[in-house]
Amino acid sequence: MFDQLRAFHRPTSVATALRLFDAERRTGGRGRYVAGGTDLVVQGDRSLRYLVDLTRLPLRYVKKRGAGWAIGATSTMSDLERSKALRGFADGILAEAAGTAGSRQIRNMGTIGGNLANASPACDLAPPLLALDASVVIAGRGARRTVALERFLTGAHRTALNGGLLVEIVVPARTTTSGRAAWSFQKLGRLQSDIAVVNAAAGVVLDRKGRCTRARIALGAVAATPLRARRAEALLVGRTFDAASIAVAAERAARETRPVSDVRASADYRREMSRVLVARALAECLVRAGRAR
Ligand SMILES: Cc1cc2nc3c(=O)[nH]c(=O)nc-3n(C[C@H](O)[C@H](O)[C@H](O)COP(=O)(O)OP(=O)(O)OC[C@H]3O[C@@H](n4cnc5c(N)ncnc54)[C@H](O)[C@@H]3O)c2cc1C
Repeated sequence: MFDQLRAFHRPTSVATALRLFDAERRTGGRGRYVAGGTDLVVQGDRSLRYLVDLTRLPLRYVKKRGAGWAIGATSTMSDLERSKALRGFADGILAEAAGTAGSRQIRNMGTIGGNLANASPACDLAPPLLALDASVVIAGRGARRTVALERFLTGAHRTALNGGLLVEIVVPARTTTSGRAAWSFQKLGRLQSDIAVVNAAAGVVLDRKGRCTRARIALGAVAATPLRARRAEALLVGRTFDAASIAVAAERAARETRPVSDVRASADYRREMSRVLVARALAECLVRAGRAR
């Protein structure tokens, strides 16, 4: 399927990758970065003339950064799934989401950078990363820029990369440092390892009286981009976090979706499953925060 390629580069530094990509672009024709290839190869775009492979770049890591985490863009889904650090962070929702993406073989190849740069509306890492207020770091010909993930995902298979290279994902930790925090990730697919029909992540912080002081609800596969259900979040803040407020927020979150019908599910089913998954995620947060009644 890449029978029209005229060049395949395997740089070992970010600077060289950028330079090679730029040099190829100047000679004309379309090219791409490639990491695990689990999206790119399947797409089989025969118009591509050059590829710059990212797998030898020093971008495969999960590091403590201040009170949060920095994740290198070529870390694989399996790396995240197995990371002790991520399993112990935010109730492990990022590791858990990575562990639901495709088969073991896909997770051994597919990267966090590829998952976000491909910008599928159904990608599994976006909802937990949105709930965790993550940003991405983009290297380009000028200085590096940091962009909130929500602004990075601009449409279905569209991003703010603008020819740049996604080098790092930054997850701040302030979300877990005050009050009692709890998190949950939920996914509905034909099988759990399938592309999501709907996926969702939620996080809450509760004060001593069980009132919600902070809420995050993110959904995937229900709009052109994964989204935050901000109105539903706002309904929770300041209220006692219990079954009644969860039901109201889940209902509201479903109304914030803009799903389409496709081979996997109808728009109506997706909307209803959004309500169900958000309710499940928040109920799990309630249990995890130790306030189940
Ligand atoms: C059978 C199968 C099952 C799957 N199941 C799931 C699933 O359940 N959940 C899920 O979320 N995904 C799933 N996927 C999709 C895919 O595996 C993931 O999106 C994966 O994380 C993509 O990463 P990659 O490294 O393989 O990306 P690649 O295919 O290498 O790249 C994807 C796109 O991103 C660009 N890119 C990659 N890295 C960078 C970077 N660092 N900077 C800039 N651009 C970059 C490439 O140019 C390309 O356009 C599945 C795929 C297959 C084939």
